Amino acid sequence: MEGKLLIEKLLKYAKSYLHLNEYDEVYVRNILLSILKIPCPYEQDLDFNIQSMDVPDKLWQELIRYALDNGLADKDSAERFCTDIFGLLTPKPSEINKEFLLIRQQNGIQAACDYLYDICVKNGYIQKTAIAKNLKWEAKEGDNKLEITINLSKPEKSNKDVAKLLTIPQGKKYPDCVLCKENEGFEGTLTHPARRNLRTVKVNLGGEKWFMQYSPYAYYDEHCIVINEEHVPMYVDQKTPDKLLDFVDAFPNYFIGSNASLPIVGGSILNHEHYQGGRHIMPMHYAKIKKQYTKPEFSDLNVGILDWFNSVIQIEGKDRQSVAAFGAEVITKWKEFSCPECEIINMTDKTPHLQKGRR
Ligand SMILES: [Zn+2]
Repeated sequence: MEGKLLIEKLLKYAKSYLHLNEYDEVYVRNILLSILKIPCPYEQDLDFNIQSMDVPDKLWQELIRYALDNGLADKDSAERFCTDIFGLLTPKPSEINKEFLLIRQQNGIQAACDYLYDICVKNGYIQKTAIAKNLKWEAKEGDNKLEITINLSKPEKSNKDVAKLLTIPQGKKYPDCVLCKENEGFEGTLTHPARRNLRTVKVNLGGEKWFMQYSPYAYYDEHCIVINEEHVPMYVDQKTPDKLLDFVDAFPNYFIGSNASLPIVGGSILNHEHYQGGRHIMPMHYAKIKKQYTKPEFSDLNVGILDWFNSVIQIEGKDRQSVAAFGAEVITKWKEFSCPECEIINMTDKTPHLQKGRR
């Protein structure tokens, strides 16, 4: 009885929050019956209130308990089991992309982003409850401020988990990394996160196929990751400003930023080209210009070095081509630039301090 009722709750939840179409209801009910190994559905009236469910946590926990009690999953696989079911309740990637475009046309880009973001929260992909535990504060210094976040939402591996991981044979990895497009719908393993409930939208950057998804452990509002469909390393070159501008043309409600093309920066994964962005104005965006520069060929641009904690050149202009061309020139010059007196060195022997070109 408990399992039958649980299936009805899941269906009602999916109809209310995950856009489950009534034509798909019987079909999805039958799949849930198979997965939960129940022969026939609940037949009495349903007395279940799903109003005001901001997050799926309560249902998720109920499902975990049911799976453990009935031997459908063990402690190691219970989260994957739930992710699988919430993924099943979520529209397929093709439907998400279709709806995203339609909403963008009718109600604008923010409404389209709200649609995707809300689905990703309601299907448990974005860990909203965990994110709320992050510590956050501002530090002021002169005219500038920094925003400091301690990310407590990302689960750390225990010593036991690590010991278990070491016993797993290392074969060919699939997906290649956690950013690859093959993660969308991936069941997950002990070493790779479950992504059955991940949904992404396509975007074209610099003539290449890319996609946008949200970060499950956000540091700021609508923290998104924009990823190349190809598993190629981070690479900053003359084309980068154009790709970034293509993104803000498609998503004028979000900012975007690129990592350096170095193999490792902190904990970032730079073996797969990606950018990060979102609905946030970063403290650096408020910084003022410290020193203004001019260049005759770019007289339409406002260029200056910011009063900021690290080296920033701000380029402001109304002509996209001009901004991109100046950005490309700065990148080219920076790769060749050395100033040993101030300990800026662009190359050691013949190895550039930027990752070698891949194209
Ligand atoms: Zn990858």
